[in-house]
Amino acid sequence: MTVLLGCIADDFTGGTDLAGMLVKAGMRTVQLIGVPHDPIDVGKNIDALVIALKSRTTPVAEAVAESLAALRWLQQAGCRQYYFKYCSTFDSTPGGNIGPVAEALMRALGSNFSIACPAFPANGRTIYKGHLFVGDLLLSDSGMRDHPLTPMTDASLVRVLQAQIKGKVGLTEYSTVLKGEVAIRARFKALQAAGYNFSVVDALSNDDLMSIAAACADLVLVTAASGLALGLPQNFRCAGLLADDLVADALPHTGGLRAVISGSCSVATQGQVAAMRTTHPAFQVDPFALASGTDVVGAALEWADSRVKNEPVLFYATATPEAVKAVQVQLGAERAGRLVEEALAAIASGLVEQGVGQLIVAGGETSGAVVQALGVRGLRIGPEIDPGVPWTTAISNDSGRRPLALALKSGNFGTPDFFLKAWSKLAS
Ligand code: ADP
Repeated sequence: MTVLLGCIADDFTGGTDLAGMLVKAGMRTVQLIGVPHDPIDVGKNIDALVIALKSRTTPVAEAVAESLAALRWLQQAGCRQYYFKYCSTFDSTPGGNIGPVAEALMRALGSNFSIACPAFPANGRTIYKGHLFVGDLLLSDSGMRDHPLTPMTDASLVRVLQAQIKGKVGLTEYSTVLKGEVAIRARFKALQAAGYNFSVVDALSNDDLMSIAAACADLVLVTAASGLALGLPQNFRCAGLLADDLVADALPHTGGLRAVISGSCSVATQGQVAAMRTTHPAFQVDPFALASGTDVVGAALEWADSRVKNEPVLFYATATPEAVKAVQVQLGAERAGRLVEEALAAIASGLVEQGVGQLIVAGGETSGAVVQALGVRGLRIGPEIDPGVPWTTAISNDSGRRPLALALKSGNFGTPDFFLKAWSKLAS
């Protein structure tokens, strides 16, 4: 296997975001959920691997240890360059974790220089004179100021990162970035020669990110938000390592029956559930029935048995805010959420046993529960259904398992006909 780029993301959705960017930029990408602890077949013809961790807000030592374990795994896969991906608002706890993780990865790779560039201009995250802006506001004036876990009260990335690491942090200013790749590379060399270990890099546009990425071709480690992924694949193309005409989002054929599981109560999902219910069989999962001990899962699977052979079927707990409130008042929000997630995950497992090979799951937490119940360890990223929601195929370490296509849609993603149109993006 010749994987070019090995990525470590500090949370799951961040990993998905990066994986999607890499596929769009022409790299065939697999996202793994956590560091695999046992042998796992991730498939063939992969250009980029993304290991998604949950290390954004864990204790520093834990985040560092987990990130180093991910790095070792990626090194064994033979990656040529490494990418530590964090949020474009540079979400850090007072103890780190971005700085300590970045520094530990750099040392483990035998390097003494990298960049820090959380810019993501398409989402309004820009960096000027080392200060991070969210739209028109400095980071420290944005909503991130009051984030419950990672409050960001200083917009100076040089200062924030410097406080987190032992090495020295410098800046590559916008005037240099505007001059392009050669000037940026020269600045990196000058900073490195002067004993700096990281450079924050100004960036206001995607063109800037392309120049910065080009200047990073020789760095063994980059640290950035997902925006930098726009430009890195081009380096591999220039080096003759990545074909120009690669179809990066092709998925292996899965076949199988089709179903949708929805535990999301977000507005977009409510519309999608309503649209599918009018044309397809739908089974409502009632939290009160679950709480009373009724065998809802058994009933759902019996109901599915004859129907799913003929057409896509829907299972939903999705409800209006008033209905959810009523459930939560009686059962408690945490218990209600858990009961519904467990039931939907058990239904998903039963459906796969009944022959479902193409499954859409709506809801971030719901997706987490389903993926866990199905023993999914990774996802090969395929064609996008709507922005931010690709079809994927599941990777598990049960090699005898039939192939499974999964679309994991969190919260407010997707158009009202999402559940209906999604199938047309997959080879049947
Ligand atoms: P989203 O991505 O839209 O936020 P999630 O799956 O992350 O969706 O979160 C929805 C939560 O609401 C889950 O914990 C789910 O179990 C719970 N839930 C779903 N339906 C109901 C319901 N009818 N009553 C109470 N809780 C529900």
